[in-house]
Amino acid sequence: MGDGPTTTREAVLATAKRMLAEGLVEGTSGNISGRLPGGLVCLTPSSVPYDTMTLDDLVVVEGDGTVVEGTRSPTSEKDLHLATLARYPELGAVIHTHAVYATMFALAREPIPAVIEEVVVYLGGDVPCCEYKGTGTADLGAEVAARLADRGAALLANHGLVTCGASPERALHNAALAERTAKIVWGARAMGATIHPLPDKVGTDMAGVYRYLRDNP
Ligand SMILES: [Zn+2]
Repeated sequence: MGDGPTTTREAVLATAKRMLAEGLVEGTSGNISGRLPGGLVCLTPSSVPYDTMTLDDLVVVEGDGTVVEGTRSPTSEKDLHLATLARYPELGAVIHTHAVYATMFALAREPIPAVIEEVVVYLGGDVPCCEYKGTGTADLGAEVAARLADRGAALLANHGLVTCGASPERALHNAALAERTAKIVWGARAMGATIHPLPDKVGTDMAGVYRYLRDNP
């Protein structure tokens, strides 16, 4: 951020393609936003495959969703992006995916536990599950924004995952970390293992690190 709108657009596009390459999305599901100067937000479009997506496909909107640049329709899930970016000025990007293992926890409406130190550092603690709200609604946007006050990721009940960060790259890192953690916890449970929590001191000691990473691109 602070490096001009062209660079942010390029970061949004590159991150969208990396989501596909890393298996966090399929087809046209999922979406990304990046904050531009002047209260504008760059969003991925609705119904355009990631592998052929170009900068011209991206859509720029005002805070209320009014399109000011681009010929495509913005993602139908734009409200969760706009509500989150409006509420937290330190954030530069939001990502939403239907990543498989995280979505398993979303179906169970069960948090992904913070049982690995990097989850505490990068996500600020466990990945909580939002209350169920309809896809693409303003109610879902408000629910997501409330849950991301002190977290880098949250689950959408019966739907998927949302992450945030100071930049598109950080939001992508958080999405990959949440998905990987969900997979690890699922696997450990499949082994019949008892999953031991981290000592409380880890959360206390690392809270400041999470805050620093969230506030500094
Ligand atoms: Zn979705």
